[in-house]
Amino acid sequence: MIAKRLALRGDLLDFSAAPSLTDTSMKTVRFRPDHWLLIDGGRIVGAQPGSQLPDPSWWREDHSGRLIMPGFIDTHVHSPQLDVIASYGTELLDWLNTYTFPAESRYAIAAAARYGAQLFVECLLEHGTTSAVVFPTVHKASVDALFEVALDRNMRLITGKVLMDRHAPPELRDDVEGAERECVELIERWHGRGRLAYAVTPRFAPTSSDAQLAMAGGLLSVAPDLYMQTHVAENRDEVRWVAELFPDARSYLDVYRRFGLLGPRAVLAHGIWLDGDDRALLAECGAQIAHSPTSNLFLGSGLLDWRRLEAAGARVSIATDVGGGTSLSMLRTLAEAYKVQALQGSRLTAWKALYTATRGAARALGLEHEIGSLDIGSTADIAVWNYAASPLARHRDALARSLHERLFAFMTLGDERNLESVLVAGTPHVRAASV
Ligand SMILES: [Zn+2]
Repeated sequence: MIAKRLALRGDLLDFSAAPSLTDTSMKTVRFRPDHWLLIDGGRIVGAQPGSQLPDPSWWREDHSGRLIMPGFIDTHVHSPQLDVIASYGTELLDWLNTYTFPAESRYAIAAAARYGAQLFVECLLEHGTTSAVVFPTVHKASVDALFEVALDRNMRLITGKVLMDRHAPPELRDDVEGAERECVELIERWHGRGRLAYAVTPRFAPTSSDAQLAMAGGLLSVAPDLYMQTHVAENRDEVRWVAELFPDARSYLDVYRRFGLLGPRAVLAHGIWLDGDDRALLAECGAQIAHSPTSNLFLGSGLLDWRRLEAAGARVSIATDVGGGTSLSMLRTLAEAYKVQALQGSRLTAWKALYTATRGAARALGLEHEIGSLDIGSTADIAVWNYAASPLARHRDALARSLHERLFAFMTLGDERNLESVLVAGTPHVRAASV
């Protein structure tokens, strides 16, 4: 049943502003227990206490005792890498050669790209993630397929053709002229259509020549509303390699600056091995680090110093980075983010974690008006969660003495099994029969 006017009853949780990393107070938390969330024409139009029953012109769904939040935003994930999630025994550079590149090669076949895109988007939604910034492959067909599936679901999705003209297998390499031509075609076809946006996507500095990075910077200079996504300073061997390949750059991050790739719409995955000048540069240009804790732990890459990034004024969002990451669940990802900070003597709150996966990511992407909150006027990308989905979790939930304690246990013990339903632009997600 797809109703134009839809009312969801439950506990509404979102954030009015950015919490600090370790403040458990409620200052920025907007919690409205037992409320109706009103959705009309795909947008949030209001909220009212549970005792005020919306009139019969509203299709009512009662999720009393459940948590209603904005859908999660995953700012860095690779659609073709569902095939290699949970692959054993490598660090980044070996992992790319051993697992990732062979998997991505299969996307040269349009039917494989279509199937992969469909599966990927289904999986995102079934984990409560309604928006994502996505790496497909170097193949144009993989970009078309992903955009088509996202358009069909009216999702807010940001992606673009991966650029790689060196240090990759021949079947995954492009060249500067061909890549530029394909980027221009894809931008014209997809950027700004529905809720889609194009991201200029050099995989990472080692796999693009100077000429290709310059071409990417050129695309951004003439269309500043395009996004840019890439990887930076994930792994120490990678950082050393970049220093060899770009001897004139001050740092890995500086490579991207020199080619005009940094700006408020730049999304840089990882950012573990940065220095103070890099952090200052991030703050100055407004680019965000997409923190990918399960990937960083799984590949043994290192621990993100979130505290220093925050102190410098740099933006941080949270990402699964599947398939280096080990789950599409943002809840699991947040739980691992807590542990990454704990290993460095800091205590990430549930508020900061949940904010970062919703409004924080939206703000960093310049989309705060559209996603990431339950504000009136926002697009109704919504996830309904069970606070506790197992006997142990229910036991723990019942013992929580404060809302933060409750939400921290939800974040630490929860995953996709807690998801009760998900809406994209006000339309309930229904699992595709083909996947
Ligand atoms: Zn990645």
